[in-house]
Amino acid sequence: MQCRAYSSAVEPPAHNRLVPGSNPGRPTFIRGKDVDIDFNKLINLQNLDEEIKQITLILKKIPLQLKDIDINIETQFQAVTQAQDNLAQNQKKRRTREADIQDIKAHIDKYKHQLGGVKTNKEYSALLKEIEEAQSKIDQKEEEIISEMLNADDIGDEIQKAELKANEAKEKLSKDKEALIFKKKELEEKNKELTLKKEALIPLIPKEQSKLYLEIFKTKNGIPLSPVTDDFCSICQIRIRPQVLNELKAETQIILCENCGRILYIKKKSS
Ligand SMILES: [Zn+2]
Repeated sequence: MQCRAYSSAVEPPAHNRLVPGSNPGRPTFIRGKDVDIDFNKLINLQNLDEEIKQITLILKKIPLQLKDIDINIETQFQAVTQAQDNLAQNQKKRRTREADIQDIKAHIDKYKHQLGGVKTNKEYSALLKEIEEAQSKIDQKEEEIISEMLNADDIGDEIQKAELKANEAKEKLSKDKEALIFKKKELEEKNKELTLKKEALIPLIPKEQSKLYLEIFKTKNGIPLSPVTDDFCSICQIRIRPQVLNELKAETQIILCENCGRILYIKKKSS
């Protein structure tokens, strides 16, 4: 590969020699040895690389999206579990109150039994008062039980609704998941196809050009080419000098942008 400074036809001294992309201030020329520069192939290569990059980015996100769907399905069923827990709590409270009522009834029986043996009116009245208070506690607990039974009916409805909603959501989300898995397969196939195209294209490009392309690809975020539009490098926006433009139009050598170091080419209307 031969490099020379644009401003001089003579190769500069070794310490001053140009390295592609590292020479701000003046463009770098790289001339192929007895080879034409086929910008279309380089552009195709960059297009393939760009497409592969975009697909790879989409593919990278898919596992997380699938995980999100699973989490979403789980969340839908959490409402069911929560309502079922509420019902269990409700039934537990009811059983506790029923047991309390049995205890109080046992006390009342005891008081009633004691009534037969009392000696004074005062004792009799005191026992009657105890019985009355105990009975009122039973009434209160029975009211609470009725209220909890009504509440249990509501919770039962809630469970049914939550189950219906969760199952509907699960059906929809499972379809989304299937679609995503299908899309993943399609994109993987597409990437394989593009990679094969790329592998077939690279040997058709003169080695020094594909080597330069790969070098710049690594340092320029996968975009080694930049079209010149309206006399500007379309990536870094630096103005291209008229003399360089003429060289570019001739398409006989590779010229790197003096600012961003990318391979410049004149964008044709058809491409
Ligand atoms: Zn540039």
